[in-house]
Amino acid sequence: MNAEIIAVGSEMLTPQRTDTNSLWLTAELNNLGIEVVAKTIVGDDRARLTETIADATRRSELVILTGGLGPTEDDLTRECVAAATSRTLVFSDALLQDILERFARFGRKMADNNQRQAYLIEGAEALPNPNGSAPGQWLTTAPDRHIALLPGPPKEMKPMYSAQILPRLQALQPPMQIRVLTYRIAGMGESDVDSLVAPIYTQYTNPVTTILAKPGDVELHFRARCATTAEAEALLAEIGPKIDAVLGDRIYSRDGSPLEAAVGALLKARGATLAVAESCTGGLLAQRLTSVPGSSDYFDGGFVVYSRDLKHALLGIRLEDIAGPLIYSENTATYLAEAARLRTGAHYSLAIVGVAGPGPDQGFDPGHVVVGLSSAQKTEARTLKLFGDRERIRFMATQSALDLLRKSYLAPSQ
Ligand code: ATP
Ligand code: MG
Repeated sequence: MNAEIIAVGSEMLTPQRTDTNSLWLTAELNNLGIEVVAKTIVGDDRARLTETIADATRRSELVILTGGLGPTEDDLTRECVAAATSRTLVFSDALLQDILERFARFGRKMADNNQRQAYLIEGAEALPNPNGSAPGQWLTTAPDRHIALLPGPPKEMKPMYSAQILPRLQALQPPMQIRVLTYRIAGMGESDVDSLVAPIYTQYTNPVTTILAKPGDVELHFRARCATTAEAEALLAEIGPKIDAVLGDRIYSRDGSPLEAAVGALLKARGATLAVAESCTGGLLAQRLTSVPGSSDYFDGGFVVYSRDLKHALLGIRLEDIAGPLIYSENTATYLAEAARLRTGAHYSLAIVGVAGPGPDQGFDPGHVVVGLSSAQKTEARTLKLFGDRERIRFMATQSALDLLRKSYLAPSQ
């Protein structure tokens, strides 16, 4: 079954409000194996809304509308669905009684215009709304054609979907089992990842592949839908190794966990600990590492050494070695990494120095970042050229540092 969603409400065409209902509904529908093929946001305008509904019902089997079920003149969803499907609106005494009772329960008098909410589209079933005054509606226009009218406020829409729409859809759809495989990749852009994996995933309509990209982090989701769990798992077991073969060690996670957790798991598996020395990231690396529950098993802590004086005082680097542009040298990063490791007794250490911007410093452009890495076997530094604003450069510095440690020090072969 395919579906489309129409969010009704002029407020969502302003810069202040956004349609979040359709994101939630899409996740719910996908869980049932229903694909969302179109989404529309339309203002409280009779002609445009009627036309949108007519288009949607022509091309999609299931149309879910949210919003515009309130009691006021600009709440048009009922009328427009009726117009688009050439049906009349029928006054329901039973619905009016429900609405009156709800008002009585709250000790309030019903305003006359709430009567509008007692109109049902000809042939529709009313859907009770325990969390608001606007009932929903479910209308079947052909054996495989359905329209749902849900209230706009998420606190009313979500419970109504779960109690009323979900069971109806489950009855219409053969039960499907869903299994998802999530790979995360660091150190590659979205288009580079896609050009490697597209020749593989385009051969499959099941599992469905989604690529989500954030700075320094690409997520690949493979979503298999089958009659049984075993079949869904078999599909993932087929595509997974093919993706592994082209991306190799650039995949840092196969369970959706973030890089700091993946590095933590590798450290823990070795019974090893990590310490950090941070300059331009000001503790961001330590923050990410400690955001993972249980990180005390492998993260010792470290040094936020922003000024030259503190680099000298806490980690012993000589001031003449960090004078002027030397502060951003590989020597400095190497020294700080080794000192952090030796002074904490950790097995591994990372150091980050660099120019986060927005302006240049000591002749170096923003994005000039040097990462130092140290273990009992080796100590080294890598110079990176990152781009973006201050926030992105600082994040990318931590991302690159964690990924260098993972690939060059914690890989199974190391
Ligand atoms: P009411 O009886 O409250 O008027 P309604 O069904 O008419 O219900 P709307 O008036 O369209 O709903 O929307 C009420 C509020 O619900 C909006 O101000 C907004 O905060 C929220 N809302 C509506 N649609 C959406 C949506 N698609 N995504 C997120 N929030 C929404
Ligand atoms: Mg309203």
